[in-house]
Amino acid sequence: MRDKPNIVVLGTGGTIAGRGASHANTAAYACSVLTIDEVLAVLPQAHALANLRTEQLLQTGSENFNNEHLLLIGKRVSDMLEDADVDGVVLTHGTDTIEETAYFLHLTLKSVKPVVVVGSMRPPSAMSSDASLNLYEAICVAGHPASRGRGVLVVSNDEIHTARDVVKTNSFKLEAFGSPYGPLGYVVEGQPRYYRTTSRDHTVMTPWSIDRIESLPKVDIVYAYGALDEQAIVTFLGNTDGLVYAGTGNGNVAEHLVGALRRAARDGVQVVRASRTGSGVVVRDGAQPDSDYGWIVVDDQVPQKARILLMLAMSGEPKERDALQAAFHRY
Ligand code: GLU
Repeated sequence: MRDKPNIVVLGTGGTIAGRGASHANTAAYACSVLTIDEVLAVLPQAHALANLRTEQLLQTGSENFNNEHLLLIGKRVSDMLEDADVDGVVLTHGTDTIEETAYFLHLTLKSVKPVVVVGSMRPPSAMSSDASLNLYEAICVAGHPASRGRGVLVVSNDEIHTARDVVKTNSFKLEAFGSPYGPLGYVVEGQPRYYRTTSRDHTVMTPWSIDRIESLPKVDIVYAYGALDEQAIVTFLGNTDGLVYAGTGNGNVAEHLVGALRRAARDGVQVVRASRTGSGVVVRDGAQPDSDYGWIVVDDQVPQKARILLMLAMSGEPKERDALQAAFHRY
């Protein structure tokens, strides 16, 4: 038995690695300038929690992350988890796209060891920065045996969220993350307290292993509004493998856009009706005859998570549409 857990902290940049010109700069600052070692240097308390090993994997804002970044991060986290000396992994990350990377890892890592993705809304230099406390709490969660087998977690503002549900819902407040069904638990005085689990399959329960994925299909998102021009959809045809349509309300499609989306499906593009509302489900064969049109609907996945799931569902062997549809109700 070790006296403390062995935790690897991987840095990728973001506000948690940012620096402002003054303490008053909570929202204007240089992003991704501090190394992970510099971020940890002002958090000596973290060493009492765990034996820490660090690695600077990337150093950029998460708005820049593309599919290659996802694969790079996933494979490196997987390498770490395979090491018998590692008990858990913390990934520091810009908050903008944390929910996408975390969901990707949640569906592709093959380990029950805790993986926690963490960022901050204020750089370490700002007054009342959340950087050190979020990182401290992420290490607490990653090193605790109660976190094993829960899938990938996002820690923010004293809350522990499942990667499946968490979404950044505010652009500047410290209370920036929410899950439609609430967090899984809290971090209280350096201890995770869990109140619920996610019922959807993840990590070791999914068919996707990051170690075997070398590329991902191209999936794009179209954001709906009444005056959206059909050309916005047509532009993607021949240039994408899947299209998530972030429709109004219950995934509604304006009459003048139905033709272009039907054409997309006929041409072999996987069309997924989602909702731009931010929560709730899309009902299959409800507002649109999806079965007739060859379309798929999300369950409750927001468009950016639907994109991640569709890429994975389409990876590997070609799949029937029914199999792709089923994935949305399983993960
Ligand atoms: N550019 C940042 C990012 O990497 C902004 C937000 C943040 O980290 O809080 O996502």
